[in-house]
Formats: sequence, structure tokens, C-alpha cells
Amino acid sequence: MTVVTRFAPSPTGILHVGNVRTALHNWLWTRKHGGRFLLRIDDTDLERSKEEYVDAIRADLGWLGFDIDGEERQSARFALYEAEFAKLKAAGRVYACYETPEELDIRRKILLSRGLPPVYERKAADSPVPEGVAPHWRFRLDHDAAIEWVDMVRGAQHFEPKTMSDPVVLRADGSWLYLLPSVIDDIAMGITHVVRGEDHVSNTATQIQMFAALGATPPAFAHEALLVGTEGKLSKRLGSLGMASLRDEGIEPIALAALLARLGTSDPVEPVTSLAPLIEGIDFARFGRAPARFDEGELALLNQKILHHTDHAAVADRLPVAIDAARWNAIRPNLMTVAEAAEWVAVFDGAFTPAAADEADRPVLTAAAAAAPAIDWSADPWHALTGAVKEATGAKGRALFLPLRRALTGRDHGPDMGELLPLIDKDQAVARLSAA
Ligand code: GLU
Repeated sequence: MTVVTRFAPSPTGILHVGNVRTALHNWLWTRKHGGRFLLRIDDTDLERSKEEYVDAIRADLGWLGFDIDGEERQSARFALYEAEFAKLKAAGRVYACYETPEELDIRRKILLSRGLPPVYERKAADSPVPEGVAPHWRFRLDHDAAIEWVDMVRGAQHFEPKTMSDPVVLRADGSWLYLLPSVIDDIAMGITHVVRGEDHVSNTATQIQMFAALGATPPAFAHEALLVGTEGKLSKRLGSLGMASLRDEGIEPIALAALLARLGTSDPVEPVTSLAPLIEGIDFARFGRAPARFDEGELALLNQKILHHTDHAAVADRLPVAIDAARWNAIRPNLMTVAEAAEWVAVFDGAFTPAAADEADRPVLTAAAAAAPAIDWSADPWHALTGAVKEATGAKGRALFLPLRRALTGRDHGPDMGELLPLIDKDQAVARLSAA
């Protein structure tokens, strides 16, 4: 069996971290099994769907590196939905209803006040639609067929259709609700695995009967626990955090993928530099039932760790030309983001006057300025420089290294000086030592 999955966002907004997590899990699972990953644009809501969001969704998936094997659009498939709906109607599996939301609300309250579950009572099911009223349509659940499936994350699931309301599938204004078109498409597109958030579990229960009513075997389902913020709930920030703002903060797509692939699973988050090990490692059996906690601080740290072993070639197109592979390797352990690398260009090549040195450091700097011009920069200049200064002044340890680091880089901290100094232009280094 070829695995076929779909990521099915509604283009009514940008993708946020939670959607991306669902896309990632679908994509990883599909790539692991050599299947086909489809992007299905759920744009049945013509008013709220926007082309700019469709473009943004594609761009974000591209940025993340999730290649797609096909794209479908629900708005182009209404004829198919009508045809399948007609079959269900002929089979008596959908029926017209005409209660107003107010009437339904009153019925719900009455049932609740009697201690009964607020399930739709099918009052309109077998009565004619009153003159002049546009009905909405419900799918008739088969009360005698218990709903069961083995969820790849949640295990055995069981629903009693009697305890569920017949879902509305077509509104009075002729617009489709999500449930039925999704099932029709999953059948038509040969979807084998549906991976989505656990907020869809009860939808799945009704959809399983829709698959059966349309003569199809349902796909396998994996409902993942929701993603929550550090405070333990679905925060506003998390619900709106998009890829553009993460990119602006210097987050690498691989860092986001590395975190989202493992959060809420029994596998550790690892600082991988490509998607390959994440593909290899995905296993729904290792996904937990508890909400997965997303922590932006953890993401920033992981991003930093990943940069520390990211090759120059992977980021070269985003680096100033002056940052070649050797310079990148020297500075990457000190970077939080790729953009920060630009700040090091001045340290390597720039003419800058270091801040005035402490008086106590004067002898070290004077000795360094005197020794530097004669040092062979192509060998191990840091070793030669510190050796000469130590011999001339007797300084050692921090009293030796810190004033030199400050004068040469303008900073108190940074990469290993042994690695850094040969990469700093020699004339600049001599000038800095003399000026300090
Ligand atoms: N458009 C639906 C959503 O975003 C798709 C759910 C599904 O994967 O079936 O919730």
C-alpha cells in the first residue's frame, strides 16, 4: 500500500506553530514510507478564504522544506460534493432541517435541565420543510452501528452514535461545512492516513460513518495531543505565532522542525541539521496523550545548538562574503542566529579603535604591540603572541588573555582566540594593539 496523506489548512489566516506541527508529522510520516504528501486547501468558506494566505501557506511549507506531491483545492470540487451529497440523499443518509439556532438552543437547554444529553432529536427529520424556508442538511448517523477505530496515537476508540447529534453538513445558504467534503476528498484522493489534532476526534467518529455511507473504508487515523504554551494552555501567542516572525527572530526552519517532531513524544529533542533523522525517527506509537508544551526559550536554545554544528555551505547564501568557511567555523559556537555573523565582519576586517584599556593592562598591550609585527600570522599567531607577552611581562591567565581579547576583538567574550586570531587581518590586529 502506498501511503497517501494530506495537510488540509483553511486559508483564512497564516500557518501558526500548531498547524506546522500537523504538517510536519504528516510529511515526516509520508516520507518515511515513501508515500505521497498532498496539500489540500480547505477553502469552502469563500468569504473568509484569501489567496494571499494560500500563497503564504505554500511559502511557509517551502521554507520548512516540506515538499509536496500535489495540491488540491476544495473550491474547485463543489460539483463532486453535490454528486456525492445527492447519493446520500437518495439513500436517506442526509435530511433537511429547518430549526433556527434559537429553537435548537432552547431544545438543548430543555434536555440539559432534564439531565439528558443535549443531542439533536431529529424533530425535523421526517416532517416536510415549511413553505419558503431554506433548509440546512444533516447527516443521519446510524444509531445501530457502534463507531470504533484503533487510533495510531490514542489506541482503541469507541463512540456510541446515539449519544451524538447528526452533524450539519450543508448550510441553508448552500455552503459546505468541513465534515463531508473532507470525507469525499479523502476517498477521492486515496488518503490512507489522516494525521491531525485531537480536537478532531469527535469529527472522526461522525466521518467514519460518512466513509461507510459512501461505500468506502476509512483511512487510518492519528490524532495528536494538542500543542500548548509554557503556561499549559493554548496561548494567544502560540495561536498566532507565524513563520515570518520566527524567521525574523533568526529561528532556522530545521530548529522548529526538530523541536516539533519530538515535543510530546517519548523521544528526546535533538539538535539535528537536516530533516532526514526526523523522518527516520517518526513513530506515532511514541506520541504521548498529554498536551505537548511549546517553549520559545527552548526553541531559541535549540536553534543556537543547531547553528553550532551547521556547515558553512548550508548558510553561505545568507552570510556576508567576508565570512568564509574558516571564519564561520570559528564564530558559530558564539552565535544565536545566522544574522549575528554579520557583526563579526568588523572584528575580522574592520578598522576599529578598541575602547581605552585599563591602566593595569598597559604593559601587556605595549608588549603585544611590540611583538605582533614580527609574528608569522600563518602559523599559530595567538600562541606566539601570548608567549612573547608572557615572557616580556610575566602576565598570565586572565590578566594576559582578557586585555588582548578586548583589544583585538572589542569584546570580552567570543570564540577561541587561537582559532580566531589567524582569521583576523594582521595589519588590523597590529593597529588595534597599538591603539589600545
Ligand atoms: N481544514 C481542517 C482544519 O484545518 C482540516 C482538518 C483535517 O485534517 O481533516 O481543521
